[in-house]
Amino acid sequence: MQKGHISVQAENIFPIIKQFLYSDQEIFLRELISNAVDATTKLKALSSKGIFEGELGDTTIEILLDKEAKTLTIRDKGIGMDEEEVDRYLNQVAFSGAKDFLEKYKDESGIIGHFGLGFYSAFMVADKVEFITKSHKKNSEGVTWGCEGNPEYSLDKNDKKERGTDVVLHISDDATEYLEENRINELLNKYCKFLPVEIQFGTKKEFIPKSEEEGAETEEFEVPNIVNNPEPIWKKKPSELTDEDYKSFYNELYPYSQPPLFWIHLNIDFPFNLTGILYFPKLNNSLEVQKNKIQLYSNQVFITDDVKEIVPEFLTLLHGVIDSPDIPLNVSRSYLQADRNVKRIGSHITKKVADKMNEMFKKERTDFQEKWNDIGPLVKYGMITDEKFYDKAKNFALLKNVGEEYFTLEEYKEKIKVNQTDKHDKVIAIYTSSPAEHDSFIQSAKDEGYDVLVTDTMIDNHFMQTIEQKFGDYTFVRVDSDTVDNLVQKDETKESVLSEDEQKTVEDIFKGQVTTAGAQVAIKALSPEALPVMITKSEFMRRMMEMQSMQGMGGAFPESYNVVVNSNHPLIADKLMKAENEEEKGKLAKHLYNLALLNQNMLKGADLTSFIKKSLDFIGK
Ligand code: ADP
Repeated sequence: MQKGHISVQAENIFPIIKQFLYSDQEIFLRELISNAVDATTKLKALSSKGIFEGELGDTTIEILLDKEAKTLTIRDKGIGMDEEEVDRYLNQVAFSGAKDFLEKYKDESGIIGHFGLGFYSAFMVADKVEFITKSHKKNSEGVTWGCEGNPEYSLDKNDKKERGTDVVLHISDDATEYLEENRINELLNKYCKFLPVEIQFGTKKEFIPKSEEEGAETEEFEVPNIVNNPEPIWKKKPSELTDEDYKSFYNELYPYSQPPLFWIHLNIDFPFNLTGILYFPKLNNSLEVQKNKIQLYSNQVFITDDVKEIVPEFLTLLHGVIDSPDIPLNVSRSYLQADRNVKRIGSHITKKVADKMNEMFKKERTDFQEKWNDIGPLVKYGMITDEKFYDKAKNFALLKNVGEEYFTLEEYKEKIKVNQTDKHDKVIAIYTSSPAEHDSFIQSAKDEGYDVLVTDTMIDNHFMQTIEQKFGDYTFVRVDSDTVDNLVQKDETKESVLSEDEQKTVEDIFKGQVTTAGAQVAIKALSPEALPVMITKSEFMRRMMEMQSMQGMGGAFPESYNVVVNSNHPLIADKLMKAENEEEKGKLAKHLYNLALLNQNMLKGADLTSFIKKSLDFIGK
C-alpha cells in the first residue's frame, strides 16, 4: 500500500468542492459518466486503428446502486489506467483541472451547465471515492486509488480481471438522495439520454414471444435496462430520415406536446462544428410559449436548456437540440456572448431559419399561409429585433386582411397603392386590432373601397412601427382613426347635400351636446350609407397613449377624439334638420353621439345607464 499527498501546495480544496456547487451537485453523475464514455470511445478508436488488438466485447457502461453498502458505482470497459497513469491523470491533471475550475467559478458563477469540474466533482456527494482500474494494455496490473476527501490518497494493486474502471462513490450522509433509484433515473434521463455509448441501469422485464408465429405465447425475461439512445437522429444524415423520424424524436424530447409545424436539421462542419434539429412548435398566435426548450449538448452530453447566450432571443421560442463541441462551456455567460464562434453560431442559425421559411413560402405558399398564425409572431419578433433576419424575412412576412387573404409587404403596397395613397405619397394601410369591436368602421372603410388588415397579436404594434421605419412610405392607421376619415375626404365626387349654412347649424347643434374636453366636432360629407356619427382618434395620439399605458404611466395625455358628423346621412340631412324645435334637435344629436360612443366602447357608467333608459323609453313610445 502506497500513500501520498495529491498536491502539496494546495490548501484543502475538498470542502470548497463540497460547498461551491452545492446548488448543482447533481452534475457529478454527468461528469463521471462522460469520463466513462470518453474512456470507452478512446478504446474503440484504438481498436479501429489496430493499436488495441484485444476483443472489444460488450462496452456497455453500468450504473450500480448498492443501498446497503451506500455506494454508487460507475463501471466502464474502456481503456483503463495503469499505476503511472493514475498518478498522472488523477493526482495531477484532474486535480489541477478541478482547482482551475473552482478558481474560475469563484469569479464567474454563471459558467454554463457547470461543465468541466471533472472527476473531483465526485467529492460533492461522496466522502470516499475508489477508482478501481485496469489498463487495456497487455499484461497490466490493476490498481485502486482511494481518497477520503482530503489531500491524501492511497494506491494499491488489485486483482481486477476485466479491463476498464469502476468508480465507487461512498455516498455521504448528506447526499443520500443519490442512493435512490428514482433520483438516479431522473439524472440519467436528464444528462445521459443521448450519450454515444450504451448505459445500463438495472434490468427490466420484457415479454418475448416464444416463436415467430402470430399470437405466440410470450415468456418473461429480465433484460438490461438501457437508459440512453446512443444514436440520436440529429447525428444522422437528413437523407436517411423520414418525417416520422423527426416527429417521433420531437415526441421523445417533449412527450404530450402538439406535433411540431416543421423543423430544420442543422449540420455544419465549418467554420465550427454543430449539429442539431430545431423544431417550430405550434405557437397558437402567441409568444406566451415556454422558452428554454432548446437543449444544448456537447458531443451528446447534455449541458443546459438555457441557451439565450447562444441563440438569438427570438429563436429561443423554438424547440429542439443543438450539439456543438465548439461552444466554450467553462467560461462565464457574459464571456460567451462576446465569443466570436458563438456569435457566428447565432447568425448561422438565424440564416438557416430564414432560408427554411423562405423556401417553404416559395414552394408551398398555401401551406405557409395556413401556418402563418403560428409562425407569424416569431417572424415579426425576429424582424423587430434582428437586422439580418429582417432583411431576409421582409420577403416572406405576411399581412392578412379581414377577408383572410395574405399578402407580402410589397404585394400589399401594390394592392392598395391606387386607392390608399395620401397627399404625401405615403401608402396608408388600414388595420383593425379587433374585427369584432371595429365592425362598423370596417364596413364604412369597405364601402369606400378600402382594404382592412387584421393585426391582432401583441407584437403587431411594434411590427408595424418597424415596417414604417424601414419602408419610409408605408403608414399604418387603425380603422377608427381620423386619417382614414381624411382619406375619405380625398374623394372629391362627394358633395354635401346641405348648404354651408345648414352645415354650420348642424355643427352648432352637436357642439351644444359634445361637452367633453378633448372632443372636437367635424362635419363631413360622407356616403349616406356610412354611419351618421362616428368617433375617430388621431393615430398618433392613440399610439402615444398606448405606449404610455404600456410603460405604466397612463394619464399624462388627456383623451382626445373627433366626433365626425356625416352631413349626407338621412338622419342628419333630413330628420335633424326637420325636427320640431331646438330641444328635439338637441335630443336627437345627443342620442346619435351616444351611439357613436357606444360603438367605440366609450360609453360607460351613468352615461351608459341613462342612454339605455332613454332608448327603452323611446322604443316604448
Ligand atoms: P477531463 O475529463 O476533463 O480531462 P477529469 O478530471 O474528469 O478531466 O479527468 C482527468 C483525466 O482522468 C481524464 O482526462 C482521463 O485521462 C482520466 N480519466 C478519468 N476518468 C477515467 C475513466 N473512467 N477511465 C479512464 N480514464 C479516466
